Amino acid sequence: MGTHDSLGMRLRSRIRGRERWEVKALRGRPGTAQDLERLLSQRQGVLHVKANPTSAGVLVTYSTDTPDFDVEALIREGFKQLPPPVASRPSGAKSGSAISGILKSFLPRDQALTPPVLSTVGHSVHLLQGLSFVSIVNTARGSGPGFLRSLGIVSTGAQLLVMTGWSLLLTGVDLYLQYHRKEAWRRLGQATQHDLRDQLITRIEKQDVEFFDRYGTGPLIDLVTKDTAQVGEFVERSGDVIIEKALTIAVAGFFIITSAPSLGLIIFLPLPIIFLSSRFFGGKITERYARRGETTKQFNQMLENNLAGIADVKSFTAEWEEARRLSECDAALAQHTLGAERAASLQTNFISGLFSTTFVLTAGYAGFITAGGGISLSNFLRLVYWFPQLLRSLTGIEQVTGLYHRADDSAGRLARVLESYPQIQSGPVRLSAEEVRGEVIFEDVSFGYDPSVKVLENVSFHLRPGETVGIVGPTGSGKSTLLRLLLRFFDVDSGRISLDGNDIRDLDLHNLRSAVSMVSQDVYLFQGTIRENVIFGQRRATEEQILEAMRDAGALDLITSVPGGLDAEVGERGRRLSGGQRQRVAIARALLKLTSGASILALDEATSHLDNETESAFKRSLRKAATGKNVIIIAHRLSTIRSVDRILVLESGRITEAGTHDELLAHEGLYASLWRLQNEDPFGDQLEIRLKR
Ligand code: ATP
Ligand code: MG
Repeated sequence: MGTHDSLGMRLRSRIRGRERWEVKALRGRPGTAQDLERLLSQRQGVLHVKANPTSAGVLVTYSTDTPDFDVEALIREGFKQLPPPVASRPSGAKSGSAISGILKSFLPRDQALTPPVLSTVGHSVHLLQGLSFVSIVNTARGSGPGFLRSLGIVSTGAQLLVMTGWSLLLTGVDLYLQYHRKEAWRRLGQATQHDLRDQLITRIEKQDVEFFDRYGTGPLIDLVTKDTAQVGEFVERSGDVIIEKALTIAVAGFFIITSAPSLGLIIFLPLPIIFLSSRFFGGKITERYARRGETTKQFNQMLENNLAGIADVKSFTAEWEEARRLSECDAALAQHTLGAERAASLQTNFISGLFSTTFVLTAGYAGFITAGGGISLSNFLRLVYWFPQLLRSLTGIEQVTGLYHRADDSAGRLARVLESYPQIQSGPVRLSAEEVRGEVIFEDVSFGYDPSVKVLENVSFHLRPGETVGIVGPTGSGKSTLLRLLLRFFDVDSGRISLDGNDIRDLDLHNLRSAVSMVSQDVYLFQGTIRENVIFGQRRATEEQILEAMRDAGALDLITSVPGGLDAEVGERGRRLSGGQRQRVAIARALLKLTSGASILALDEATSHLDNETESAFKRSLRKAATGKNVIIIAHRLSTIRSVDRILVLESGRITEAGTHDELLAHEGLYASLWRLQNEDPFGDQLEIRLKR
């Protein structure tokens, strides 16, 4: 039983609740396998999915409560939602390297013809130069080309003049073509790199938050800059070299064989050995380059972390320790680089050795047959010229193989990202900003970043339009996670979150995220001016709106106190501002989004760096700025949320108390004890008291 088709699906085994399929389209595609796993695991009734890119097997276990569960349709439908494969990286497989897959997708077809044509013409002209060089020497010996004689040019002097003129002309054409040929290849390389980068950046920007947590910033930057450049360089440089070598080998081989056929045979003897050796070395070299790539990624990540956290490195006087760690990682990197290069040059050396030996043998043999009169002098001259040419072409092959291995390694990494598809997909229901009322319902929501560790468990609450809810709870209890789920940075494991009655998984993602304006706990300001940071995402805001948002955020004083005012540069990640100033710029940004139509304002510890006075002023202006909007405030400082409509207490991922401030005090639970702690302590209001979980 089982079917054949483009996915190559075949049923391997089936028992109730558990089916194993072979899906040929998965083979050698770890990215696709991973995406398929994640996608299918989310489907209703599916308990577990395992997709293996090596064996091409997909194992699906499902709940037997669902009648007529159709695993085949499930897999097919899953595949439809994955992107068409950009490139495949068959792990250890022999056909279809990663670089060829990438080139198939990204080499601009309309520009791909000119460079090889120019190369072919250019190198042919160069070879003609060689031919005329041999002719000049033969002319000097009195056996010039026959066509000159038939044209009436008979004297050796005249023949030499014509041949020299012809050679000069060829040299000029060669130089001219050389310039244009290089330019054409460069253009092709740049165009490929640009297309690749464009697609890669688009693909990266669309990924889930989880993807960025997994990859880290440094490796992604490397991917966009270095790996694409490696592919570009391969396109720019390898094509021309390959054409040059192929033409030279063909022409030189032709002349050698026609001059002395027995020599030709000897010369080409090593070719099958080379072919076999590249099969032998190829896999090893690729593997070592991949290991080097992995270590480079680690090193860059470490360096980036170190530089971003340099203030902490210094305050903990950990410079020495950090420098040592970096140095160790760099030493490992050097080792792996050496390993990769060693394998590559071993192959090159082997090939060179093979040719050198052949050269010596052939030269000796040629000497013998010339001495024995088995070859004419003009043929011998040809051999003397073409033999080194052929050798140079054959031994220089490592230029291309080096480029190839590096590009193939990069292409493998690129393909994995280009193949991976965000798990969080936009839904079909569109809600314009004006339509959204902002009613949020969490129903029995459970979630864990790692499926085995629940961060939220059976959380249910209801945020009515126009209401303000405060969320408190010990550190790590899952407060920020609640907001991440609302924005669909992650999807719930079970339960449901709805906005205005629609499951947020059914909503258009852009609409959903436009409806929520958030100030996150780790405020991030982008390099640029204060103004640019406030209008981030709302480029069309008027000066008046900007100022109003700044005023409501209690940030107007920045305009006068920071040199440059609204146009002051905030520095990388806003380093040039104080913690409280950064927070207020971020609040202004969120308030501006609120005026532009968002209906829910979520503040995650957004005022933690503000002094009490500034915070109170902000709370007053917030009431006006957020009239009619829904507000969620997460705070450790309880005075921040004292007057909200309802307070939820979150403990270890569960809501344990809910009510107004007075109700919760009367309840005598965690909230009441926290409140007392913060207010009895003379510094309680300024100190953030964080209870241990
Ligand atoms: P705090 O008051 O300190 O901000 P919180 O209540 O906001 O804490 P969360 O940030 O929601 O806590 O984190 C809840 C739990 O989830 C923590 O145990 C944390 O270690 C874990 N966690 C948070 N973010 C991630 C992530 N990206 N990947 C894996 N685990 C995470
Ligand atoms: Mg938090």
